[in-house]
Amino acid sequence: MNRLARCLALLCLLCGAAAPAWAAGPEVVTIPLGFSNAYLIKAPRPVLVDAGGKHDGPALQAALQAEGVALSDLAAVIVTHGHSDHAGGVAAIQALGGKVVVLGQGDVPMAHAGRNGELVPVNLTARLLKLLPLDPRYTPFAPEVVVVAPLDLSRFGIAGQVLQMPGHTPGSLVVLLADGRAFVGDMMLGGCLGGALFPSRAGEQYFQFDQARNRSQIVELLRRPVHTFYLGHGGPVNRASVLSGFDLADPRQP
Ligand SMILES: [Zn+2]
Repeated sequence: MNRLARCLALLCLLCGAAAPAWAAGPEVVTIPLGFSNAYLIKAPRPVLVDAGGKHDGPALQAALQAEGVALSDLAAVIVTHGHSDHAGGVAAIQALGGKVVVLGQGDVPMAHAGRNGELVPVNLTARLLKLLPLDPRYTPFAPEVVVVAPLDLSRFGIAGQVLQMPGHTPGSLVVLLADGRAFVGDMMLGGCLGGALFPSRAGEQYFQFDQARNRSQIVELLRRPVHTFYLGHGGPVNRASVLSGFDLADPRQP
């Protein structure tokens, strides 16, 4: 996307209008890992959204290589939240140097401890999942950028922003591209069994730090012209699926 298209797309993002088709944003590659998805944004300086768990390094590296991107090429790793299946691979990437790790302020204690915070189950399936012996620990890390206000992505040649949207965790982030695509981490779940079935059907995540606040963030996100939601598990899902999955009226419709 050239500079004019990026400026126009960013203007649309700020005033809540849909970006025109010719201002479409960068290619996005989904990288399915052991328990979660990571995403490569093929911007002029490639950016990774989430880094998988501590055992996902070889799979992540192979997926990036297939796209002609080395770990050392990444300009940034934006971590949607501090849970082990999204943040567990960060320390190994960060050790290579030269890239910026971005994390929401509320999840910095988790990153420093290298451990999930309390997982609050929202339904019976979640209570059963909590019985599984999953390791909540990972190698601690310190982010170079702590998000405390909307973060402009133009420094990476991307028309978009990183927004604080706490709910799933105290520091959950959403990466919002100006062309109407959003990376929402575990704000919602695609399908069931971690996205194995019906991945394009949006629904409630198993665990929420603050379920009511997470729901209000979904409504807030829907006030913007977002049409595609990339998820940490399953997905992507479209706007209609989110509205139906959370039984919401479209806040952009009069
Ligand atoms: Zn999570």
